[in-house]
Amino acid sequence: MKRVVFILVASLAAVAAVLWGRPGSGKPEDVQKQTRFLMDTYVTIQVPGDAQAIKTIEKAFDRMEEVDRKFNVLNAESPLYRFNHENVPITDPEILALLETSLEVSSESGGAFDITVYPLVDLWGFFRGAPAVPAQADIALGLKKVGWRELRIENGVLTKPKSDVEIDLGGIAKGYAVGEAVKVLKGAGVTSALVDAGGDIFAIGELRGKPWKVGIRNPRGEGVIGVLDVSDLTVVTSGDYERFFEKDGVRYHHILDPVSGYPASGLMSVTVICDDAVRADGLSTALFVMGAEKGMELVERLDGVEAIMVTKDQKILTSPGLKGSMVTAGAPAAENPFVSIGR
Ligand code: ADP
Ligand code: MG
Repeated sequence: MKRVVFILVASLAAVAAVLWGRPGSGKPEDVQKQTRFLMDTYVTIQVPGDAQAIKTIEKAFDRMEEVDRKFNVLNAESPLYRFNHENVPITDPEILALLETSLEVSSESGGAFDITVYPLVDLWGFFRGAPAVPAQADIALGLKKVGWRELRIENGVLTKPKSDVEIDLGGIAKGYAVGEAVKVLKGAGVTSALVDAGGDIFAIGELRGKPWKVGIRNPRGEGVIGVLDVSDLTVVTSGDYERFFEKDGVRYHHILDPVSGYPASGLMSVTVICDDAVRADGLSTALFVMGAEKGMELVERLDGVEAIMVTKDQKILTSPGLKGSMVTAGAPAAENPFVSIGR
């Protein structure tokens, strides 16, 4: 059963947890919980049950680590690294499948999602310790290498006619890893679990007969802007607060507009809710680049996809599908600019 309810909370300060379960009546079953650091973030998996549940969680983590190794663009052993630096074609079917999905999202989003933006991600230095604003001339040079239509997939082989094209699946690989963990858990017979990879969450079934609760983080400051009740759904957030630096009072973050070569402006965060962890990850990055108006138009065209956006002027926008189920917890507090609804 898939369902989602979004509750805006009136008091951000009071809610420090991003995510929690509600105890049911009677003696609640134990929830096993393990955390590992992978894909540059803390990943927590929770499964109600006994020692067997821990073993299953470990298997799910092992699968995520496998995905991490294969899709890490900085891993000199990975096919992605060799494609980028030595122009070696990619034949790995698993990578090609994720690439195809990436290109679908590129097409749907009019190129806002573009895995060939990597030369610019590298230029900004978000993954090299000390990021800085590049020279305009270097951005212009980088932009010449960007273009998802330059990628060719034919007969199970990915090639690039232009040798300086480079790809990075960082905008979608975490969703894939979460989806793979979910497959392992379900394959082991798990009917209730929560996989939380930072901004990418998947809720399997319910916790003690109630939907899992997922808080949507306030992109500025503490707490959450609202809480989702979810069951058999993924909730994925892309934000300008995950990886950023400030220079002369301007925030520069890691989600780049493939047209300008600069961080996408307009939104602070985008949350996508649907049943497919991979698409949700790609879409959250895409919608962030597209901005509120075009982004919400796309959400309305897509079946089974809902979104919550926080704009730079601190408005919370929700897609129409969420509105029917939305409950506001009291009147918006005057001191809390985030509790304002509407488009
Ligand atoms: P996070 O990794 O914080 O969950 P996202 O899923 O939004 O955030 O992915 C951001 C990553 O995607 C960046 O670090 C970069 O590697 C890559 N990226 C940046 N801009 C784009 C874009 N326009 N299209 C596709 N990938 C992008
Ligand atoms: Mg993403």
